[in-house]
Amino acid sequence: MKKISFYASNFLVVMLLVASTIVTGQTKLPNIVILATGGTIAGAGASATGSAYTSGQVKIDAMIDAVPNIRQLANLKGEQVANVGSQDMSVKVWLDVANRINTLLASKDVDGIVITHGTDTQEETAYFLNLVVKSDKPVVLTGSMRPSTALSAEGPLNLYNAVAVAASPKSKGYGVMVAMNDEIHSAHSVKKMMTTPVQTFQSPEEGMIGSVVFGEVDFFHKPHGLHTTSSEFSIDGVKSLPRVDILYACADSSPDLVDLMVKAGAKGIVIAGVGDGNMNAGTLEAVKKATKAGVAVVRASRVPLGAVLIKGEIVDADYGTVSADELNPQKARILLMLSLLKDRSREDLQRVFIEY
Ligand code: ASP
Repeated sequence: MKKISFYASNFLVVMLLVASTIVTGQTKLPNIVILATGGTIAGAGASATGSAYTSGQVKIDAMIDAVPNIRQLANLKGEQVANVGSQDMSVKVWLDVANRINTLLASKDVDGIVITHGTDTQEETAYFLNLVVKSDKPVVLTGSMRPSTALSAEGPLNLYNAVAVAASPKSKGYGVMVAMNDEIHSAHSVKKMMTTPVQTFQSPEEGMIGSVVFGEVDFFHKPHGLHTTSSEFSIDGVKSLPRVDILYACADSSPDLVDLMVKAGAKGIVIAGVGDGNMNAGTLEAVKKATKAGVAVVRASRVPLGAVLIKGEIVDADYGTVSADELNPQKARILLMLSLLKDRSREDLQRVFIEY
């Protein structure tokens, strides 16, 4: 009898502990802030089966409420930073978002950030943040290819999974990530590969860095390139970035486009070259003139995969240019804009493109 009451009292204590954990459990969840910027994930259309829709229609609180069980993953706070299709993303929003993230992550009360974002320029925002966020806490971008009103809209599950990645203790130190379609990609390597299919984000060169399936997070390898806490770039006190334009090369492309960009005020030009960062003879001459005048010119490629050789058909040192290594033109533009915040030699600029 005595023994039974001993077990009974122990059982009572355990039950009280379990109950108190359930009651107070919320406070033990990680604190995640969701910064919403718009995109198709916040888009709406008139028909669930029609393809026409408008990005950036739904507000963040409604988006969170549409995801079952998401509040079981983390304590969530949503902030509406913008509500645009990401074709309208701007340097100003990048700076605002990056400053906000640095402020939030400096607080011990914030464990990670999720950013909802259109997919068109998501890789650009991710790469920009990867270079200027000063924290090893997780920063995860997500979006969707189908608007919230579509049949089988994948936004809610993508948001659920992005919060799971941001809330996971496993996710520290991977830099800025993109979590979509059950995959986790690094900001450095992720590319939008398709116009509308849900598997649009891929990292064809280095591969995805992890997976997230119904909230189960797994990492396979570290991202390529320097980022976040090991990045030399800072936007402290920065109000704008130097103008950098992209010139898309093709057969018989017009060399005077280089001069036009310089005249318009470009401090840097990224050539989306043919093949191994090549361009026709007239454009190459115009580029040489531009670099002599102090404009930074980086050779990337319009070809989806492969690095641009420093000594290939074009030898960069002969023209004052720099190879983008394996960065695509849109990411090379971001790295060049940040690099041009201070004076650099051509050699130092080349180092930057190899390291980041
Ligand atoms: N145009 C949209 C955007 O980038 C496309 C999308 O989100 O999938 O905002």
